Amino acid sequence: MSIVVVGASLAGFSLVHDLRERGYDGSITVVGDEIHPPYDRPPLSKEFLHGDVDIALGETDDPRTRWLLGHRAIGIASTATGPGVTLDNGTTIAGRSLVLATGARARTLPGAQAPAGIYTLRTVDDARAIRAALRTARTVVIVGAGLIGSELASTAATLGVQATIVELATDPLSGVFGPLLGALCADLHAANGVRLRTGVAVAEFLGDEHVSAVRLTDGTLLPADAVIIGIGAVPNTEWAQDSALHIDNGFITDAQCRTTVPDIYAIGDCARTYQDALGTHHRCEHWSNATAQARIAAACIVGAPPANIPTTYFWSRQYGRMIQFAGNRRPDDEVRFIDGDPSTPSCTALYERAGEPVAVFAIDNARLFTRYRKQIERRPAAIATP
Ligand SMILES: Cc1cc2nc3c(=O)[nH]c(=O)nc-3n(C[C@H](O)[C@H](O)[C@H](O)COP(=O)(O)OP(=O)(O)OC[C@H]3O[C@@H](n4cnc5c(N)ncnc54)[C@H](O)[C@@H]3O)c2cc1C
Repeated sequence: MSIVVVGASLAGFSLVHDLRERGYDGSITVVGDEIHPPYDRPPLSKEFLHGDVDIALGETDDPRTRWLLGHRAIGIASTATGPGVTLDNGTTIAGRSLVLATGARARTLPGAQAPAGIYTLRTVDDARAIRAALRTARTVVIVGAGLIGSELASTAATLGVQATIVELATDPLSGVFGPLLGALCADLHAANGVRLRTGVAVAEFLGDEHVSAVRLTDGTLLPADAVIIGIGAVPNTEWAQDSALHIDNGFITDAQCRTTVPDIYAIGDCARTYQDALGTHHRCEHWSNATAQARIAAACIVGAPPANIPTTYFWSRQYGRMIQFAGNRRPDDEVRFIDGDPSTPSCTALYERAGEPVAVFAIDNARLFTRYRKQIERRPAAIATP
């Protein structure tokens, strides 16, 4: 019997691929509300803003898989044949398993609907609009100094647009990397001519038809030909809120991506999954998590042995530098540089707990990073420093 997937992006596409790899030969229906064939999002804040690059995730011409693009799921349906979804055209499709892969959407700010020239970035259409704006803008204000905000600032600087980042926190990226390495990443902005205003919020956007400036809560007025808001993402779960699914900042699942309703799975940015390593549920918004959870759910659906959730891994490209992180960091972990230091062009640092490495961070040192990442994933106690 058929498998139904909601969300035709990285997690949904990867799931279809993994089911076929595992020999599942039955029909699969994938419902996606975007009209575009599945595409990859990481280039959207990076090289895509310079010009068109191929972002297609792969082929969608296998006759065993039906891609219902441009259709939105609006509710969970329980049918005699199994779990299903109701679509915005009034039809219901059901299968033996249902996989929710509806991702997340960009969070925005009050007052951002008007004037024109204020953007968020999640989709390829958002990226095209931002690319067009950056072609003519002289100044851009980026709200939020997280990974996407930082990448956007880096891209704007490369395009010759004067970027200013406004960040509410006083220590940007410290929640992600800790204060020492967060500050190291934040310093990249100044080194590349991008202004960073921390500990201050946006009070209002100014401009009649088109944005012309941003007023901050300390009274500062920043001229802006364009504004991009990069303040995180919200999981797309509301469409299923009338169901028996447990939803709390994502679809709650066990470690095998099974939701609280039999035969319904949730994977990728929309899922808050139990992680043994953390001892709690965690919603992860990184590329490698979406592909790993697709592998886990595919194994579960075909009855293969359970797979483990791998250690957190993500990368970010800023100012021509490759930043990588892997592991599970806690605020009280010790940070120790094992190669280079904050003053060198490349560096690698370990986060240690009770003398054992639990996470690794690197700038432009993929080889050493990968070595430690693998060791942390295999057996943290086995790591010896060079
Ligand atoms: C600009 C950008 C840059 C990024 N860069 C990096 C990076 O450098 N490194 C990294 O590790 N990660 C990066 N990420 C994160 C990574 O792209 C995401 O973790 C990944 O896209 C998650 O995949 P997903 O399939 O779970 O969700 P999504 O990619 O959000 O896809 C969900 C899909 O479901 C659709 N949908 C939602 N609701 C419904 C519905 N009711 N019915 C039908 N369809 C629905 C959505 O429209 C969307 O097409 C980046 C993300 C963005 C936006």
